[in-house]
Amino acid sequence: MTNNLLSVQEAQAHILAAFQAVETEEAAVTACTGRVLGEEIRAAADLPAFDNSSMDGFAVRAADVSAAAPEAGVTLEVIGDIPAGSVPGFRLEAGQAARIMTGAPLPAGADAVVPVEDTDRTRNGAPGRVVVYAAVRAGQYVRPRGQDIRQGQLLLPRGRLLKPQDAGLLASIGRERVKVYRRPRAALLSSGDELVPPGQPLGPGQIYDANRYTLAALLERAGAEVFPLGIARDDPRQVEALLRRGLELHVDLIVTSAGVSVGAFDYVRHVIEEHGQLSLWRVNMRPGKPLAFGSFEGIPLIGLPGNPVSAFVGCRVFVIPVIRRLSGAAPGGELRFTAQLAHPIESDGRESYLRAIVHPEAGRLVASLTGHQGSGNLYSLVQANALLIVPSGVKSLPAGSEVEVWFFDTF
Ligand code: AMP
Ligand code: MG
Repeated sequence: MTNNLLSVQEAQAHILAAFQAVETEEAAVTACTGRVLGEEIRAAADLPAFDNSSMDGFAVRAADVSAAAPEAGVTLEVIGDIPAGSVPGFRLEAGQAARIMTGAPLPAGADAVVPVEDTDRTRNGAPGRVVVYAAVRAGQYVRPRGQDIRQGQLLLPRGRLLKPQDAGLLASIGRERVKVYRRPRAALLSSGDELVPPGQPLGPGQIYDANRYTLAALLERAGAEVFPLGIARDDPRQVEALLRRGLELHVDLIVTSAGVSVGAFDYVRHVIEEHGQLSLWRVNMRPGKPLAFGSFEGIPLIGLPGNPVSAFVGCRVFVIPVIRRLSGAAPGGELRFTAQLAHPIESDGRESYLRAIVHPEAGRLVASLTGHQGSGNLYSLVQANALLIVPSGVKSLPAGSEVEVWFFDTF
């Protein structure tokens, strides 16, 4: 057990160094959104794969209709019909046109499309004649082969958090399955004699276990599969029994809350020290100064403070980056912006993560604190949409100061 005062950055780096990405598995493209891509996706072919029409209308040779105007229609012979999904088996010669639908391949000889609105016809069948009332340039209303994607182009890098449109892109290049990282598995342990799960009556001096719910949801949103181990009483045998369930579940990480501070009843710490190793850090931050990092029977363990806001902040600052690394996600994408303080704030010189509501006002972001900043006050966190970060060494900031705000979401 060490007792050094660490900067937030040092603690983060120290923890992150112990983790690497988990292995990959196959996922159906229908279920890949929200997963992290475990392979590099390159285009096997051009997309679109063939020149095609971007409008319902008539495929033409632009030179034939260069004189067309509303008062000077040009009449062309319609020699065929090209619905989407068909292949035109003919070639346009001078003076000819073919009815064409959006997405249908351009016939040989054609170099442009006249939208149906610029002709004398809407839904009449071909063949026949068509009068064109607008000139088009060569290439107009044509989506050329490779306009969107070129063969060999890098489309999605490994480590990409897959979005709904990525699923569509994968499908559009013919992929049905992709390699993704398996979801990291995290066990969650609450600890303390005072804790009762919601749904049961509270006895004197008892409180409901809030951390399990906040932490589980945070970890799940970051892509983890969460296994709640329950509430450990302040009893070493029970702490150990519950932690052993984490082993059986083959988790990549154990996250505990409470029971690691220097109090007489902090059994979690003793149990872990006996069955693994534990560094108890004092981190130069507020809230959440005590932080434990170690392993239980070889499984990495992060011990967060018990106060609900400290647990939340500690999870965002120290645990979510671990989940992201385990999940293979590329770093970055956090919503950190500069905002202007609506009112002065005091800090104590530690790196502070204050609950704030940030909103746009006259083209800039303005931040104000959401209430009492005590680390047990969860409601002020509920009212916030961001954490406002006061750097270490800063004790007061006047109204109008530029501050960093960290929204509760990612890109
Ligand atoms: P500790 O870290 O054990 O000293 O706990 C610090 C404070 O957090 C105490 O007021 C605990 O009652 C409270 N606390 C600990 N665990 C939880 C939890 N799971 N949900 C809500 N409050 C908690
Ligand atoms: Mg306790």
